[in-house]
Amino acid sequence: MSPSTPSTPLPRERLLAPLRQPRRWDLVVVGGGATGLGVALDAALRGFSVALVEADDFAKGTSSRATKLVHGGVRYLAQGNVSLVHEALRERGALLANAPHLAQPLPLVTPAYRWWEQGFYGIGLKAYDALSGSRSVGATEWLSVARTRELLPGVQPAGLRGGILYWDGQFDDARLALALARTAQAHGAAVLNHCPVVGLLRDGGHVGGVRVRDAESGEAFDLEARCVVNATGVWVDALRDMDRDPAAPSRPPMVAPSQGVHLVVDRAFLPGTHALLVPKTRDGRVLFALPWLGKTILGTTDTPRDDLAREPTPFREEVDFILGEAAGVLVRAPQRADVRSVWVGLRPLVKPPSDDGENTKALSREHTVIVGRSGLVTVTGGKWTTYRAMAEDVLQRAMQRGLLEQRPAGVTVRHPLIGAAPGRPLGEPPGEHLYGSEAALLRSLPGAGRWLWRDGSGGLSEAMVRFAARYEMARRVEDVLARRSRLLFLDAAEAARQADGVAALLADELGHPVDANAFKTLAAQYAQVP
Ligand SMILES: Cc1cc2nc3c(=O)[nH]c(=O)nc-3n(C[C@H](O)[C@H](O)[C@H](O)COP(=O)(O)OP(=O)(O)OC[C@H]3O[C@@H](n4cnc5c(N)ncnc54)[C@H](O)[C@@H]3O)c2cc1C
Repeated sequence: MSPSTPSTPLPRERLLAPLRQPRRWDLVVVGGGATGLGVALDAALRGFSVALVEADDFAKGTSSRATKLVHGGVRYLAQGNVSLVHEALRERGALLANAPHLAQPLPLVTPAYRWWEQGFYGIGLKAYDALSGSRSVGATEWLSVARTRELLPGVQPAGLRGGILYWDGQFDDARLALALARTAQAHGAAVLNHCPVVGLLRDGGHVGGVRVRDAESGEAFDLEARCVVNATGVWVDALRDMDRDPAAPSRPPMVAPSQGVHLVVDRAFLPGTHALLVPKTRDGRVLFALPWLGKTILGTTDTPRDDLAREPTPFREEVDFILGEAAGVLVRAPQRADVRSVWVGLRPLVKPPSDDGENTKALSREHTVIVGRSGLVTVTGGKWTTYRAMAEDVLQRAMQRGLLEQRPAGVTVRHPLIGAAPGRPLGEPPGEHLYGSEAALLRSLPGAGRWLWRDGSGGLSEAMVRFAARYEMARRVEDVLARRSRLLFLDAAEAARQADGVAALLADELGHPVDANAFKTLAAQYAQVP
């Protein structure tokens, strides 16, 4: 059974109260992305006392900027990494089952233009199918030219030899993060956004908690804990620096960031319900065109950068690459002027430190968990799809080090998230269906029939803004328009037009004035295509 919505709204004061009380938590998690939230939920379900603090908003970092695929990582098969794919396919199954309102099976078609492509990719994808076993979401099929064109109405027909259909999953990443936060909360975890960690509490050589600062009031307070988990994504080195003895020499960073860019265009460029995958572009990269919330996402790139910007901007060459490759496979080639939003996410390329005496474990998977001499547990890397397995690894490591007592794993394998109810394909425009079993509560709020922005039978309603403030911990215009609603990611200019109206509704709900200008500046960045 999924946890039920709290019977009354959760004002921030009520969320702050347990954090202000003097006590020692079993676990304090720093970072409210997929990784930290997964750890908080798992630990709470195992009966540990947990507090999670997020510097900005839940999923403000990489976790709202994914390609939105729940996937086994078919490309790892080509590298022979069967166990990695096997694990991710298992996790794909768990995620689709635990949050069916936010994660759905997705059919993908690879168009074949070269003689060898259909056979080569088809055999690999059949193997992918076989590995899915009972968790398969659909069978791989070889497609004729006519069938490929039928499933991908926007595909370039010149030179087409056929295609291959296979299945993965797709999700709304930011709303899934919120569902994780709220599910952890329903099981006793204290979770708070807009509350950065500004220091670590050190007890001799051991990390015994964190110092946080409420970003709204400026109030600082300490959270003592037996175990502190650094789940700050590409920003893990900043917290690791706080853990350093000031007299000791500085350590090289363990994360090198690499950015991925996505462009959003109208569905008219790829009508239909199927996604398009080019496994090998002219320069050997991968290109996706995916239906998502009424639009088409084109992406992505993988470009190293040397800063850790909170809002990274795309490079011109990345936009050139995506538009250029899309032009090769779509009948209607999207132009810069067609792009409705461009967003950039940072992935951590991890170089686990091995020469500083830390207990290092570079897992055979993509993620890394390190327990420092001080007991600070750092986790980074991996992918959204495997957040649940990553959380189990983190807790296992904390238990091995004696930071927490042993408690059995596996509690999140079958644990529906808040709102879990049969869902609709994620290609459809956003609407009440994304609220799952909470849709009835949403409809009971003022303004349920008043649409601020309309797309098909959905869009953004006044009630959704009120729901965001009352039940989803939204504090700012950006929290609503970027992550409770995904309008910023779908159509940045439209999101900017909604900013004043959303600010007024939030002000009404929160009881204080709410600024819209910061969001308008951000939306201008998302609308700007270099
Ligand atoms: C371009 C791109 C596409 C991707 N596509 C997919 C995909 O399709 N499918 C998939 O499975 N995976 C995908 N991934 C991977 C996936 O998105 C990431 O693995 C995942 O989101 C990482 O989550 P995280 O919690 O580790 O990091 P983040 O989401 O970045 O969370 C870290 C959080 O820590 C917070 N923080 C930082 N400092 C502090 C502090 N001092 N105090 C408190 N909080 C702090 C930040 O604000 C942030 O919210 C993609 C990644 C990229 C870059």
